[in-house]
Amino acid sequence: MTIAHHLDDATVLRYAAGDLDEAFAIVVSSHVAMCDQCRKAVRDAETAGGLLMEDVSPAPLGEGAFERMMERIETVGEEGSIRAKAKPPAPAQPGLPAPLARYIGSSLEDVKWRTVAPGVRKCDISLPTKTGSSLFLLQINSGMSIPEHGHGGDEMTLVLKGAYRDEFGRFGAGDIADLDEHIEHQPHVEPDGPCTCLVAAQTPTRFRGLLMRLLQPVFGI
Ligand SMILES: [Zn+2]
Repeated sequence: MTIAHHLDDATVLRYAAGDLDEAFAIVVSSHVAMCDQCRKAVRDAETAGGLLMEDVSPAPLGEGAFERMMERIETVGEEGSIRAKAKPPAPAQPGLPAPLARYIGSSLEDVKWRTVAPGVRKCDISLPTKTGSSLFLLQINSGMSIPEHGHGGDEMTLVLKGAYRDEFGRFGAGDIADLDEHIEHQPHVEPDGPCTCLVAAQTPTRFRGLLMRLLQPVFGI
């Protein structure tokens, strides 16, 4: 797997410091599992952070930490969504990173998709803690273009299967798009198959804006 698009330095530092919320941390750890270069960058950042923290004594687990962990073990299957589970990942299918397999199971084939626009399917992954960010899988048919759109907050997209192109180049399996709210782009899915991505988005309403744009040409709204 040749990965061309990586985490930016600020994201590596925030991830190593435990400063990312869960949705973004899952996307980052999934990329890190697929990418030697970013794995090393995270290790280096953790080492640097560890040296700074050496003199700080460990804090006890916060109240309710055990209960929160147990909650994550529970799993409920529901159309178009997955309740997070903390089971140790089964050997995942090739290309499916282990940190993601822990949440969705060992195969992308088992995902229960919900069609949100013609050619676009989504599966929400509900996380045990509500943080204001959402995590979901998105599958877009081959040859489709998504109208140019901006982002109302940070958004991180990891390509799991297939590929798309936009102003920033070609994004294939393992590539990560680490976009802030100021970036506008217009992705085109390559013709040889659907593109499946894992997306963390800062505000749940922002993607609704994108869906509206997708629906506009279809329904003339
Ligand atoms: Zn990388």
